[in-house]
Amino acid sequence: MQDFINNLPALAKDKHNENKRFFAKLKKKPPKHLDQMMQELHDEEFEATNCLECANCCKTTGPLFTPKDVDRIAKHLKMKSHQFETQYLRTDEDGDLVLQQTPCAFLDTDNYCLIYDVRPKACREYPHTDRKKFHQITNLTIRNVAMCPATYNIVEKMKALMETTHDKNTKKRRK
Ligand code: SF4
Ligand code: SF4
Repeated sequence: MQDFINNLPALAKDKHNENKRFFAKLKKKPPKHLDQMMQELHDEEFEATNCLECANCCKTTGPLFTPKDVDRIAKHLKMKSHQFETQYLRTDEDGDLVLQQTPCAFLDTDNYCLIYDVRPKACREYPHTDRKKFHQITNLTIRNVAMCPATYNIVEKMKALMETTHDKNTKKRRK
C-alpha cells in the first residue's frame, strides 16, 4: 500500500489529461445509472481497501469544518467552540475553517481517528465517490486521484466500465 501511495502523485499526473477529458464528457452527458454505478464501484473498492493501512487523506489534507462540526467536536472534547477553533483551526483563503496543520492533530499513530464518532462531516463522506450526482464534483475527484488510492482505483474502473458500456451500445446500434 505505501508504495502505491508514494507513487500516486506520479500516476495521477500521467492520467491527468485523460481524466480531465473523461470527466468533461461525463459532465456533459452523465449516464442515467451513474448513482447506482458509483455506489457499486465505491462499495467494491472499500471492501478491498483498508483505510487504516493508508490514512493518506488525514496525513496530507484536512477536512473543512462546519459550525456544527466545531460545536459537536468541541463538546466531545469538553471545550468551548471558540477554544477549539483557536487551538486547532484557521480560516483559509476561501473563508473556510480548516486544520492549522497536517497530519491532522486527531490522527493517532496507528492511523485511528481519535474523534472518530464525532469527526467532521467531510471526513465521514470522504472521498465522496458514492455521492449522488458524482459528475458534479469532477474537479475535486481529479484532485483526490493524486492523494487517495481508493479514488484512483475507482476512477480507473469507472473509465473501463463506461468504455465497455459505450462499445456494447455502439455494437447494438450497428446491428
Ligand atoms: S479514504 Fe482514501 S486516502 Fe483516505 S485512508 Fe481511505 S484510501 Fe486512504
Ligand atoms: S478528524 Fe479524524 S478522520 Fe478527519 S482528518 Fe482528522 S484524523 Fe482523519
